[in-house]
Amino acid sequence: MKYVSTRGSAPSLDFEQVLLAGLAEDGGLYVPESWPHFSADDLRAMRGLPYVEIAKRVMTPFLGGAIPAADFARIVEESYATFEHKAVTPLKQLDQDFWVLELFHGPTLAFKDVALQLLGRLFDHVLTRRGERVTIVGATSGDTGSAAIEACRDRAAIDIFILHPKGRTSEVQRRQMTTVLSANVHNIALEGTFDDCQDQVKAMFNDPAFRAAQRLSAVNSINWARIMAQIVYYFAAGLAIGAPDRRIAFSVPTGNFGNVYAAYAAKQMGLPIEKLVVGSNRNDILTRFFQSGEMKIAGVEPSLSPSMDIQVSSNFERLLFDMLDRDGALVAETMKGFRATGGFAVGDNQLGRAKALFEAHRVDDQQTGAVIRAVHGETGEILDPHTAVGVGAARAATLDADVALVSLACAHPAKFPDAVEAATGLRPALPPRLADLFEREERLTVLPNDLAALQNFISGKTRLKGAA
Ligand SMILES: *Cc1c(COP(=O)(O)O)cnc(C)c1O
Repeated sequence: MKYVSTRGSAPSLDFEQVLLAGLAEDGGLYVPESWPHFSADDLRAMRGLPYVEIAKRVMTPFLGGAIPAADFARIVEESYATFEHKAVTPLKQLDQDFWVLELFHGPTLAFKDVALQLLGRLFDHVLTRRGERVTIVGATSGDTGSAAIEACRDRAAIDIFILHPKGRTSEVQRRQMTTVLSANVHNIALEGTFDDCQDQVKAMFNDPAFRAAQRLSAVNSINWARIMAQIVYYFAAGLAIGAPDRRIAFSVPTGNFGNVYAAYAAKQMGLPIEKLVVGSNRNDILTRFFQSGEMKIAGVEPSLSPSMDIQVSSNFERLLFDMLDRDGALVAETMKGFRATGGFAVGDNQLGRAKALFEAHRVDDQQTGAVIRAVHGETGEILDPHTAVGVGAARAATLDADVALVSLACAHPAKFPDAVEAATGLRPALPPRLADLFEREERLTVLPNDLAALQNFISGKTRLKGAA
């Protein structure tokens, strides 16, 4: 299996190289050169298998032999043993033809664990075999940081440094990061904003000497292996409700377009999906795109679903590559124009093809609260605000009556207790595994918003031999 860049001019890489590279050299994102295919009979043969077995079958074709089968089996089993629910991503039926797919049973109670638990172990495996190590550096406004830390804690070949803006994350979010006391985990509370954190991380990556000496790396949302891991739960859920012998659709609350792109990939691989409903909050660049064919940047405004407060959806470029018939030069030109002008448009023909599969709806904060309240009243289930955006979009979708619809539940409601309490009057409790979070010991280092101070701290803490 080879991977090609969406911008057409970086070299094709194998799985291991793509895993470690993240972004392609030409600024593009890697995608498989062709999609592995599962026939209807292959799918029927997977029905009833445990999640980890489906995971191995769905992901193995992407490895191209890079990781021995027995090692990969162990990595997959360990990754999903960290999930609280035996089914890993259980379905909960809310109506005759409507389910939510609970993706939040991992260590940090959000769906990013599904991909990152695997990614951390894959990194560690590949690096250890090569006799290499990396220093992961990232910035977080709260959510991704804890998922990355849980993925990398105690991994022999990885040191991880996560910058968060001091005093500007919720206490739950901070504690989910700072109570991980593993020797290779370093939480930095930066005296600044989230934008300052991001700028400092960028500055470190843009310092070639530091980058090379510390072997800087990232586990960001454009890494192909994250998409690969997310494809699995679409297969697992589809099979559980009767695919390929039943018509199915998914509704996905969307920010960077990673999650819903994984659904698109599942469809390319043979899972018959009728419709993908894209839900956005007031930051609705994607909804506007699927309505008009024009991608146009607007300012980011805070919403009840902060993990979807985005200005651009980085993974959208992977879909654009297919919409433009895999013409890398045209994608490169389009993205260049996008950077320069803040906008681009696709033709009616391309938009028409996309709309045959995708349908997008915007769900604002008021509607989000109304969905949380209504679903609680009707079913007793409590949704987090991100999940509610997906459910709100699902309710607005135009689907044939016999299509079974699965909406993705991306975070545990206890991660966003204020929004839930405002909508329902109930304050959701943390699950038992995190019940003592507020009593646990914290460890963090406060640092000024200063590049040299950050670089000194990181160089002093990494376990690299011979590093500057
Ligand atoms: C990251 C995240 C999203 C958005 O997912 P994308 O893959 O970026 O579209 C939605 N909900 C929650 C809770 C998240 O953490």
